[in-house]
Amino acid sequence: MRQTVHTRKEDCTGCGACVSICPKGAIAMKPDEEGFLYPAVDEKLCVGCDVCEKRCPAGAIPKEKKPHIVGAQVRDEALRRASSSGGVFTALARQTLARGGAVFGAAFDENMHVEHIGAIDEAEIGMMRGSKYVQSDAADAIANAAGLLARGIPVMFSGTPCQIAGLLAKVGGKYGELLLTVDFVCHGVPSPGVFESYIKALEKDAGKRVTGYTFRDKRLGWKNFSAVATFEDGSEHAGTQTTDPYLYGFLQNLYLRPSCVHCDALRGNHHAADITLADLWGAQEICPERDDDTGLSLVMINTQRGREAMKAIDNRVTTFPVKDVKPLLRFNPSIEKPASAHEKRAAFFKYYAKNGFDGAHVMKLLSGPGKAERMLKRAAHLPAGAMRRIRALIKK
Ligand SMILES: Cc1cc2nc3c(=O)[nH]c(=O)nc-3n(C[C@H](O)[C@H](O)[C@H](O)COP(=O)(O)OP(=O)(O)OC[C@H]3O[C@@H](n4cnc5c(N)ncnc54)[C@H](O)[C@@H]3O)c2cc1C
Ligand code: SF4
Ligand code: SF4
Repeated sequence: MRQTVHTRKEDCTGCGACVSICPKGAIAMKPDEEGFLYPAVDEKLCVGCDVCEKRCPAGAIPKEKKPHIVGAQVRDEALRRASSSGGVFTALARQTLARGGAVFGAAFDENMHVEHIGAIDEAEIGMMRGSKYVQSDAADAIANAAGLLARGIPVMFSGTPCQIAGLLAKVGGKYGELLLTVDFVCHGVPSPGVFESYIKALEKDAGKRVTGYTFRDKRLGWKNFSAVATFEDGSEHAGTQTTDPYLYGFLQNLYLRPSCVHCDALRGNHHAADITLADLWGAQEICPERDDDTGLSLVMINTQRGREAMKAIDNRVTTFPVKDVKPLLRFNPSIEKPASAHEKRAAFFKYYAKNGFDGAHVMKLLSGPGKAERMLKRAAHLPAGAMRRIRALIKK
């Protein structure tokens, strides 16, 4: 029988839906050598029905939507500062709790692994708050959310666009106002194995355990975000997007999941979710009067269900129209297109396989000459016209 759901590994987003779609319980998520989770099929349990592959949402393009696009910010400043962008996630989550529902989203466990949990109170919502730049394991959450919906309990599920596609592949489109789905504009997700190794390296250097981690600390402002690890004694290790090797490597696409660089299907007007959240990058140009550097969300309201949910929180959130979308695309290219893998990705994973995460090595890899620089060096002896053309090509 089967060994895997997909023959082309790079198609699998790792959403985890097939684990609960399989009627025989034959599928479990297992890490590969890069530390990403993939479905592994137990050949002894598999009956060859192929339902996993038939219902797998990878590569399927959701129906085109006509999103209503607004800028938004929760009115509570402390909540805004604790959230990655404008805090809209928490406002929607609180509204779901008020309806007697459950909220699913990504949280750290006590070993600093990121997984999707279900929340029925404010403290659990707090654990979900803030972006975690590492792939979350959502397989159990998808199964649990489907179970609650089947019992008539309202559910809000928040995750990457591919996790929402996975949830919908599991539950189908039949739950109407019981289900609210919220995704975000997605740059891609780094390897959980790499993050775990990075945390171990931090702990070894400091000689103490890491008990908390924030990828989007706003003490330096929303636009100049930094990552902060908190140790068991309350002390901190902080770095910015260019000095913290893990954050830098993420933003340079050094260890994104292979499916992320092919992820064309879940962008632009093709999100499966009711609401798509993002940072309103470019606010200083698009709406300078709104930008106090505490965080602004861009909200794409994709469906009627999404409109109802946003209306229900309008006493807690300030919204304003965003008419010109062109600058948005310039400042936030992930809205429309996937990231490209860093040319040194393979070199990173070769070294990582032997040594684990080594911050100094990451900084060295990223500071070496890149493709563009090498092209220019090689072309230095060419006539001036050729140099001009190469420079123009690199700029594109
Ligand atoms: C890996 C990743 C890449 C992103 N890339 C972009 C981008 O390129 N451009 C952009 O504008 N915005 C991006 N975002 C979204 C942005 O950072 C904010 O999360 C979003 O705007 C919501 O912010 P908020 O203030 O409303 O809520 P917050 O409280 O900050 O959001 C938390 C929500 O995000 C979910 N979440 C956090 N980490 C993960 C994770 N690893 N997997 C699944 N769900 C998670 C939580 O479940 C929770 O629902 C990305 C987020 C993540 C996690
Ligand atoms: S359902 Fe999700 S985890 Fe399973 S094979 Fe498809 S993309 Fe991969
Ligand atoms: S980039 Fe695409 S495949 Fe990768 S996590 Fe985001 S939605 Fe999923």
